[in-house]
Amino acid sequence: MKKNLHNWKEVYEFAKLKNCMYSIDYEIFPQNDGNTKPLLLSLNKDEFYCNCKELDKMRGFEAKSHSTSEYACDQLRNYILINAKGDVFPCEKFYLKLGNIYLEKIEKIWKESKTLQKIQDIKWGDLINCSNCAMNKYCLRCPGMAYRENGDAYSLSDTACEKAKIRKIIMEEI
Ligand code: SF4
Repeated sequence: MKKNLHNWKEVYEFAKLKNCMYSIDYEIFPQNDGNTKPLLLSLNKDEFYCNCKELDKMRGFEAKSHSTSEYACDQLRNYILINAKGDVFPCEKFYLKLGNIYLEKIEKIWKESKTLQKIQDIKWGDLINCSNCAMNKYCLRCPGMAYRENGDAYSLSDTACEKAKIRKIIMEEI
């Protein structure tokens, strides 16, 4: 993201011109083998502060508190990742192997994996640190991010906390 920070508006205009679908994601994650070198490409606090308002507008972000019954991630309930080797994961951020499609049917993994069901069923009320956090309405925390950072999908996420703090300052300035 750091490298194309000054080009995202052009990409956005191009997508609109061509009537293409687009999505915004400024999170950078460590490699799947734990190598943290890609994190050097993350936006620093100042870069995020200067771009947050426009990026949030493009992704349709609205500050709203999360109810305890709200799922921590809707995408996890409708999505699955299969890599080139056939290994199955909840998503690209949640790198926890669930099985392999060459050894069992994807339908069986989707319907019967207890690990997947547990991850899909995480609700905001299950997140001890986050459910009562005053910043949770500004936060885009995700279970995969927390899992990558701390090995615990229920924990807070340091990178999400940092961005929520900045977003709170910006939104309260308006
Ligand atoms: S990740 Fe941090 S900012 Fe976000 S809800 Fe949890 S404690 Fe609050």
